[in-house]
Amino acid sequence: MKKEIKIIGSGFSSLAASCYLAQQGHNITIYEKNETIGGRARQLKKEGFTFDIGPTWYWMPDVFERFFADFGKKPSDYYELIKLSPAYQVYFGPKNFITIADNLAEIITTFESIEKGSGQKLAVFMKEAQSNYDIAIKDLVYRPGVSPLELITFETVKKVNQFFGNISKDIRKKFKNPKLIQILEFPVLFLGAKPSDTPSFYSFMNFADFGLGTWHPKNGMYSVILAMEKLALELGVTIHTNSNIEKINVDNGKANALIVNGEIVNGDIILSGADYHHTESLLDKKHRAYSENYWESKTFAPSSLLFYVGFDKKIENVEHHTLFFDVNFDTHARDIYDTPKWPEEPLFYASFPSKTDANSAPIGKEAGIFLIPLAPGLQDIPEIREEYFEKIITRFEKLTQQTVKDSIIFKESFCVNDFITEYNSYKGNAYGLANTLLQTAFLRPKLKSKKVKNLFFTGQLTVPGPGVPPALISGKLVSELIQKNL
Ligand SMILES: Cc1cc2nc3c(=O)[nH]c(=O)nc-3n(C[C@H](O)[C@H](O)[C@H](O)COP(=O)(O)OP(=O)(O)OC[C@H]3O[C@@H](n4cnc5c(N)ncnc54)[C@H](O)[C@@H]3O)c2cc1C
Repeated sequence: MKKEIKIIGSGFSSLAASCYLAQQGHNITIYEKNETIGGRARQLKKEGFTFDIGPTWYWMPDVFERFFADFGKKPSDYYELIKLSPAYQVYFGPKNFITIADNLAEIITTFESIEKGSGQKLAVFMKEAQSNYDIAIKDLVYRPGVSPLELITFETVKKVNQFFGNISKDIRKKFKNPKLIQILEFPVLFLGAKPSDTPSFYSFMNFADFGLGTWHPKNGMYSVILAMEKLALELGVTIHTNSNIEKINVDNGKANALIVNGEIVNGDIILSGADYHHTESLLDKKHRAYSENYWESKTFAPSSLLFYVGFDKKIENVEHHTLFFDVNFDTHARDIYDTPKWPEEPLFYASFPSKTDANSAPIGKEAGIFLIPLAPGLQDIPEIREEYFEKIITRFEKLTQQTVKDSIIFKESFCVNDFITEYNSYKGNAYGLANTLLQTAFLRPKLKSKKVKNLFFTGQLTVPGPGVPPALISGKLVSELIQKNL
């Protein structure tokens, strides 16, 4: 039967869910508090420069294909994908970097040239990583996290030891060179936890990296948001921006309305893609399934300090994606996860979309995005942001052997307080609840409210987890669960 479904938020997960639910024949309305859609994946445009505010790495292209195929479409119907070659570059010191090619054969050669015997070891490691990818990303993540039995399959039983070992140990058993170890530990950082807290099975992220490659949608990740908006509109979804949800009304244990900018709008089903903790705060306390202690006890993915910089010249000696791993990885990780504080010497990441995409900066200029991962909940004041910009840009100049400070036209920043005010993010987390073993699948906050009928959740704090591909999958999972519950 056709239902009125009201969706909170317009991030990737909400947009995905809206498409599936509209396809099922329901009336769908999205309410987004901000002026523009896209949530953490919004875009900043300034003085002829364009920046993705959040995600910049397009990984797992098969997940995007599968999403659009569910609607008889292809990504290329909406946006152009460019495979980055090289995929990315990692700096370990001045003039000391490793470039990761866009194909495994060349990456194996690079490994071998750095550590004798590591090429063959990488080939074997990647075979296992590919097999894990096939199990995890083609099958397991498409299960709704309702029961532990979902994880017990013929294939996972054979690999059970990989759920109890961690990927950091696994990599260190096989590889000795610290640079290769850091490169292999990097992909699981997208899952939001330390490699030493991430199960070995999650090497599927290494297959996503070396096996499937790094892609760039022309005009940036935001073109994927625009593609999904277009699809949603084609399917009949209505989208309202500048529409803040202030409360979820519950009557007789059933969610039946939202308060939007002071007005009541009724719905048969309420679905929230806003941060889970915030969504529950829109309910009276007795209707919340998870306590403050619950959230406090969870491992959150990091927050970030970001800078969006317009440079008056082309930047040398960097690739589209460049990682700066020239300082101690473990010390910074401790400052994020164990004893939260501003890191003394932060690792950072920089992206220069205008290296690939002429549309993102005026001719002869460069758009630069800099990201420092941080513990959520840190004190965030302008002086600290400035201090950290100075820290990383000075290191950047030294490592890449050039001066850039005097070529900055403008810089904008985004940090903990912005994640809270812009997205109602718990403690200003950037990408949700980490995917550790104890926060996987049925152990994550549920897609369906445990206390309120007709209230559902999607997005990076629920199943399957952080990242754009999981957000698309989350939208699909919740739409199937809603259909089942009708
Ligand atoms: C800096 C950064 C870098 C990242 N890099 C990558 C990357 O390279 N690759 C990758 O795959 N992933 C990356 N991610 C993660 C990825 O962007 C997210 O996992 C994904 O975009 C989350 O989508 P979502 O739908 O779950 O949530 P969101 O995008 O947060 O959507 C939630 C929406 O709800 C809205 N909302 C909140 N409260 C209300 C309310 N009361 N009323 C109405 N609306 C409300 C918010 O404004 C927001 O639009 C990154 C994230 C960040 C922040």
